[in-house]
Amino acid sequence: MDFTLNDEQRALQDTVRRFATAELPEIAHRVEDDDEPPGPEVLRRFADLGLLGVNLPAEYGGGGLSHFDAVLVLEEIAKISNAVAFPIFESSFGPSLAVAHFAPEEMRKRLLPKVCAGEMIIAVAMSEPNAGTALTDLTARAAVSGDTVTINGTKRWCSGAGHADAYVVYCRMSEAPGAKGIGAVLIEKGRDGFTFGKREHHLGFRGVSSADMFFDNVQVPAANVIVPAGGFRQLMEAFDLERCGNATMALAQAAGALEDAVDYVQERQQFGKPIIDFQAVQLKLAEMAMRVEASRLLVHRAAVNAENGLPNIFESSVAKCFANEMAREVTGHAVQLMGGYGYSKDGPMERRMRDAWGWGIAGGTIDIQKINIASAMAGRRFDQRK
Ligand SMILES: Cc1cc2nc3c(=O)[nH]c(=O)nc-3n(C[C@H](O)[C@H](O)[C@H](O)COP(=O)(O)OP(=O)(O)OC[C@H]3O[C@@H](n4cnc5c(N)ncnc54)[C@H](O)[C@@H]3O)c2cc1C
Repeated sequence: MDFTLNDEQRALQDTVRRFATAELPEIAHRVEDDDEPPGPEVLRRFADLGLLGVNLPAEYGGGGLSHFDAVLVLEEIAKISNAVAFPIFESSFGPSLAVAHFAPEEMRKRLLPKVCAGEMIIAVAMSEPNAGTALTDLTARAAVSGDTVTINGTKRWCSGAGHADAYVVYCRMSEAPGAKGIGAVLIEKGRDGFTFGKREHHLGFRGVSSADMFFDNVQVPAANVIVPAGGFRQLMEAFDLERCGNATMALAQAAGALEDAVDYVQERQQFGKPIIDFQAVQLKLAEMAMRVEASRLLVHRAAVNAENGLPNIFESSVAKCFANEMAREVTGHAVQLMGGYGYSKDGPMERRMRDAWGWGIAGGTIDIQKINIASAMAGRRFDQRK
């Protein structure tokens, strides 16, 4: 077991960090103020630098690098900003991965090169007004008839709703009950009968659009079926990787906060000396660092062990759950250590605290990760309905 990065990984991390610190803070500030996702010029820049689909196969325009490399890239960008890193998260850990692993070859070729070129954003629509944690209660329906699929239903909380070009929509695709009847269909923005509700606003996640999505007899070709009924298990396997991305986004909020806090407490003087000279501040920094380091190791373990495909549910759930809880705590401490400056909207700290909170809800709540973990430990599923 080797805990050091090799030369290529260190070079990748350094290059991305230099780019992120030089070019992204101003964009991050603007995105936060405007509450609008980063524009096409940012996506083009990411694409030129090979930061989109880092871990997608080269034959589809991806970087052909490992999931671990993608984690390194995502952490450096997301330390600067959750919203600016979002397209990288989506392209390397989000719905594109479900397409890359499970969609028919024709669809992979049709979509993934555009995603990697920054010409297409794909979002995922699973949640519904009455199906959140109980995802298998979802009722959106996709009926396949000949060459056409007809979709009806409502989706909620989709990150990217209205902004993304295409959506991986989880639907009920047969009469089979529960998970067995669920599959997924790709639905492009602009299809007749596909509309969006008003823009939703969260505590954090500014610059990541969200809205209800309504499907009223929307028709797409059968070639848009990603996985048919019975494919829910595959979709959840791809989601094991999404958890690593979620964990990395949470980790990055904490890691960025810690880096800034370490600088700040050495500069800020009170009672005639830098506040780092107070032991209470030293202890707080050490506690924050221990949590960030532990979280990073858990994320790295899940990503490295996934190299031959997708991570296992135990390791990805442990990584996500720990990162989600840790990030809320560490970003909160960082705000506190910076006093009024930490709480000010002029700096990135209060934003990180708000953004960190969201990752413990998005992609499955903290408590449901704990149920996944216990379930993997016991080797059996705990039926939440009985
Ligand atoms: C920032 C953000 C981004 C999101 N992005 C997307 C997206 O891109 N696509 C998408 O489809 N969805 C997205 N979501 C939705 C997200 O997946 C759901 O919010 C999440 O799964 C929880 O569902 P819910 O909000 O309906 O809460 P509920 O399921 O109603 O849960 C409420 C509370 O009850 C607890 N609870 C529920 N059931 C159990 C149980 N069996 N045991 C213990 N506790 C339980 C939960 O842990 C939670 O604390 C996003 C959400 C947020 C906040």
